[in-house]
This record gives sequence, C-alpha cells and structure tokens, in this order.
Amino acid sequence: MPSSILFDNHGRPINYLRLAVTDRCNLRCFYCMPEEGIHYLPKKELLTFEEIERLVNLLASMGISKVRLTGGEPFLRTDLMQLIERIVAIDGINDLHLTTNGLLTTPHIAELKRLGIASVNLSLDTLDRERFKVITRRDEFEKTWLAFQLLMENDIPVKINAVVMENKNIDDIIPLVALTRHYPVSVRFIEEMPFNGEGSHYAQLKWTHTEIVRFIQQAYPDLQREPDPAHSTAYHYRLPGATGSIGVIAAFTRTFCGTCNRIRVTAQGELKTCLYDDGVLNIKTLMREGRSDEEIKEKLMCAFSSRPKDGFEAERNRTKGIPVNESMSTIGG
Ligand code: SAM
Ligand code: SF4
Repeated sequence: MPSSILFDNHGRPINYLRLAVTDRCNLRCFYCMPEEGIHYLPKKELLTFEEIERLVNLLASMGISKVRLTGGEPFLRTDLMQLIERIVAIDGINDLHLTTNGLLTTPHIAELKRLGIASVNLSLDTLDRERFKVITRRDEFEKTWLAFQLLMENDIPVKINAVVMENKNIDDIIPLVALTRHYPVSVRFIEEMPFNGEGSHYAQLKWTHTEIVRFIQQAYPDLQREPDPAHSTAYHYRLPGATGSIGVIAAFTRTFCGTCNRIRVTAQGELKTCLYDDGVLNIKTLMREGRSDEEIKEKLMCAFSSRPKDGFEAERNRTKGIPVNESMSTIGG
C-alpha cells in the first residue's frame, strides 16, 4: 500500500500512532492511577483486534508508518502477541514499538525479537525495591528488572521511562543516569503530568526539565548535550564515553509541540490529536455504525486539519473539564 505524507493544519507531518490496547493495569503507579476506585472499561468497549487492524491499515494508507502499542499494561490484553504479529504485517508500517511495565513481558521477549520489534520502552522509576513498591503500590521490582536484563541480552533497543517525582524518586536520578555508563539504554526522565485520575499533586511542578538537567549536571558537570533527532520529544544528553544516553522530556512544560508528529487512540477508540485534548473523534463508534473506510478517512482528515497548535491550546479547548486529570492508563502516555 503506497503511503503518502500526512500533514496537519500547522504543516507538521503526522506519521506516528500511539495506540492503547487496554486501560487495565497490574500496577498502580502514583503518577498514573489512584490507589483505589478505578472503573475499568467493560471489555466490549475496547477496540477488537479486527477493529485495531482495520484502523492501522487505514492510517497506514494515509501516511502513518510508526506504531506504538501501550495501555494500561498491554500484556494484560489476551493474545497481545497475535495482535503484534498482525500489525507488523501491515503494509506501510515500518516500526512497531511497545511501552510496558515489564511484569508480564519476559516470556515474550524472544518472540518480540523474532517479529522485529523496533524498541521497547520500559517504565522503571527507581532501582530500589522499596521505592518501587511505594511508587507502583506493588512489590514487583524484580520482574521489571528481569525484563530489562532479558531485553538487553536479546539486543532489543530499550528506553527506560522514569517519571521524576518530588519525595519519591529523586535519589534514583543519579543511579538511573549511571546505568547508561554500561548498558546501551536510553534513560528518559519525564516531567510528571497531572494525568493520574485525581488531578495535580502539586501547586507548582518543581521537577521541570531544566531542574532535572541542573540536578544531573551537579553530579556530572561534564554531561554532554547531544543533537535531538527530528520529532523527538526529549532533550538528549550523554555522559562522556557512556554506552547509553539520557533524555529529558518536557511533558508538562510542553516545549516540543512545534514538531509533534503523533496521534493517539485510547483504549476505547477515541482519537486524540494532542495528549492534552479530551478526544476529538470516536473511531470505534464510526466502525460499529458500519461506516466505510472512505467515510472514516474523511473524518480522520478533518480531525488532522483542525489540530491545536500546542498542548496549551488543546487543554483550553477541552469540553470534559480543565485542567486534565484523567488517568494515563486510558491514554497510553
Ligand atoms: N503500563 C505501561 C507502562 O507503564 O509502561 C504502558 C502505559 S503507561 C500509561 C505509559 C507511560 O506513561 C509510562 O512510561 C509512564 O511513565 C507514563 N506516564 C503515566 N502517567 C504519567 C504522568 N502522570 N506523567 C508523566 N508520565 C506518565
Ligand atoms: Fe500501569 Fe503503566 Fe500507569 Fe504504571 S504507568 S499504573 S504500569 S499504566
């Protein structure tokens, strides 16, 4: 299927889909979900594999070439590996990536390698078992760490995602940076956003991207700034001579919107053209109403042609409540 280049109304190319395959999770990360009172979507509200395959085919024909599967925890979706196999076979999809907390990933790593997974983002906010327990509200550090080791052994490119949180994992920033000395891993520090099902944890965010970099530089004054690849959301750094690299993501201060190339589809099939919007088109509804591919494409084009210029505009345009407070487990990150 020949793919064209898709542009939004601000001239930004769109080629990257992030798709949440479930809103369920086996952790309860402090920054993502409340400890209790979570209402999962009924299973029939999730996109089926057939609907996902149809959607990715449609988007690939429009210019999407990179897909990330996320969640919730994607491995809680039964037969996830079958879905992965179907997506990598779609004409026009060049890269398939995965974001996971690693708890259920280990048995599938060899198969992920065989299917040619482009990279895995592993959520790991701390290297300390006790702090892992406090942050994720589950005592499962060893499973995530094992997944990391096996991903490394299988030469699968790995990015570690670490959300930086006051009073939670500041003592982990330097040990996580130090991991890059000997592992070919990209450790990415992410500003905490209020996507936690409750609302902001702070009157003002202390650990902004500039604060995170300043903190790392205090321990490593020779930290090197590296060029940022096109459309990257991270500021890139490296310790001199290190095998791996460091990224700092201004997810809350939103400095990267000018080159944003991504769209999201939530677990319930809602299209988001910006992380901070509250859904601009329900694709699942269109499919279940029996709309044709051409009709759905037309509606998608319409959504891509009225994209907000940045996350601040998207947040102002929300109809379901400002500021954002929904759980990231429904969006996928
Ligand atoms: N369960 C999988 C995992 O944790 O890797 C995939 C879904 S999770 C929602 C995707 C990413 O979103 C994770 O790497 C997590 O760190 C990030 N995330 C979740 N809530 C966040 C928040 N409030 N602020 C910043 N990043 C967040
Ligand atoms: Fe689950 Fe991922 Fe959210 Fe943690 S960040 S609660 S692992 S969905």
